[in-house]
Amino acid sequence: MDLAGKKVVVVGLAQTGVALAKFCVRRGAQVTVTDSKPAAQLAEPMAQLADVAVTWEVGGHNTATFTSADLIVMSPGVPNLKYMDAARAAGVEVIAEIELAYRFIHPEAKIIAITGTNGKSTTTALSGELCKASGQPTFCGGNLGNMPMIDAVDHPANCAGGLIVVEVAAFMLENCNTFRSDVGVLTNITEDHLDRFKTMENYAHMKGRIWDWQRSSDVAVGNAADAWVMSEAAGTTAPFYTFDSRSNAALPTLGAAMSLDRKHIVLRLPAGEERYPVDDLVIVGNHNMENAMCAYLAARMVGVSSDAVRAGARAYRPLPHRMELVGDKGNVYFYDDSKGTNVASVAASVRGFPRPMVLLAGGVDKGGSYQPMIEALDGVCKGMVLIGAAAPLIRAAAEAAKVSYPVVDATDMFDAVARASAMCVAGDAVVLSPACSSYDMFQNYGHRGRVFRDAVSAIGAIRLDAGSAALDDHH
Ligand code: ADP
Repeated sequence: MDLAGKKVVVVGLAQTGVALAKFCVRRGAQVTVTDSKPAAQLAEPMAQLADVAVTWEVGGHNTATFTSADLIVMSPGVPNLKYMDAARAAGVEVIAEIELAYRFIHPEAKIIAITGTNGKSTTTALSGELCKASGQPTFCGGNLGNMPMIDAVDHPANCAGGLIVVEVAAFMLENCNTFRSDVGVLTNITEDHLDRFKTMENYAHMKGRIWDWQRSSDVAVGNAADAWVMSEAAGTTAPFYTFDSRSNAALPTLGAAMSLDRKHIVLRLPAGEERYPVDDLVIVGNHNMENAMCAYLAARMVGVSSDAVRAGARAYRPLPHRMELVGDKGNVYFYDDSKGTNVASVAASVRGFPRPMVLLAGGVDKGGSYQPMIEALDGVCKGMVLIGAAAPLIRAAAEAAKVSYPVVDATDMFDAVARASAMCVAGDAVVLSPACSSYDMFQNYGHRGRVFRDAVSAIGAIRLDAGSAALDDHH
């Protein structure tokens, strides 16, 4: 694709927008960057483009800018606006950032693309670690961290044999039309973002697009225990590999399952069966076994050797804000699971939690049911402290389930941590796992997690997180 002299409009000015603008200018395009926010709220990203020749259109959008463009590129998270519809009606192509990036990827580089409601970042980061252990040049990013996929284009991994691992949000697949991965992983589909997609069918279908452009020489990987995933898998062109973490799951013809004693992850590949010790990994829990199965399958299918898979698995360290132990006050333990931004992720991380816990939840509601989380808390939860706009909805779900523990409201994170720790005795835990997005009170989940840590320090706890939040990502 040649961008030289083309009029390109970049929509959305966060980290990806900055990377997109720089990329398009480097390729000789005439770039307009537009965002609905006023300049005062965009000071940081605008400063990053201070030396780049772009035209600004902030604090709103102009239809004419869109309809007169040659190409419109959307940052992740930007909703479909009437301006995009007008552009499409005028024959202008509107694409997602990953679609643009994809068009510049070397045809013999291998792409692993990972989507799903939960487990995307963990699966992406782990897959990246396994690929790196192979010694091949590797790019690991996408929605994960500070590396949008557009940055892969000018990365050493964009070459024959290079390995490109990207986390993909469903929002981005909406505006793809050729994006093809050598391995496309769909971890699971549970209620999330219904505020945007309206129905589960729409949401599931958008995620299923990860497989739409694959060929028969590619591999599709999906969760055998997830009915939504399996219904999306019905039409894949690529062979479908399943993974299944359930204890009674038989080994599939192609795919992965746990060994009977659950001490090994067992892969069934075209070349035969392979076993990987669970003890190679520091991450625990059923959901993380699923993430590992996806990552192992993906790595093996792009040519990473089984020895490199084991070496990468041993090197892998968990990401911040995923059930991370961050503080201890008199043997009351504080866990930051700020990345628990929907009901299913909270359910996965609290089910069978090893100590009595007080849950700190709330934020911006996403339109699903809180019931699965209340059920998963059964037997481990001794109290709940709520913050943010969703508090009354979570309280109503707890009351409907007639929970026996107290449910209290807090005014902010500091108040919430103080109230939660007051409900604990030695041996208990306070877990921030909000089941909501953070935007009513915080910039993003990373910011929410950092404020939690500050609040944990403020009540006199010893900090245990060794600055891991510096690794924050910002989506
Ligand atoms: P994502 O990038 O999709 O949000 P992460 O890997 O960051 O996923 O995990 C977010 C949270 O979701 C974790 O803290 C954990 O509670 C939960 N989780 C992780 N993997 C899974 C999984 N495979 N299934 C269900 N929940 C999961």
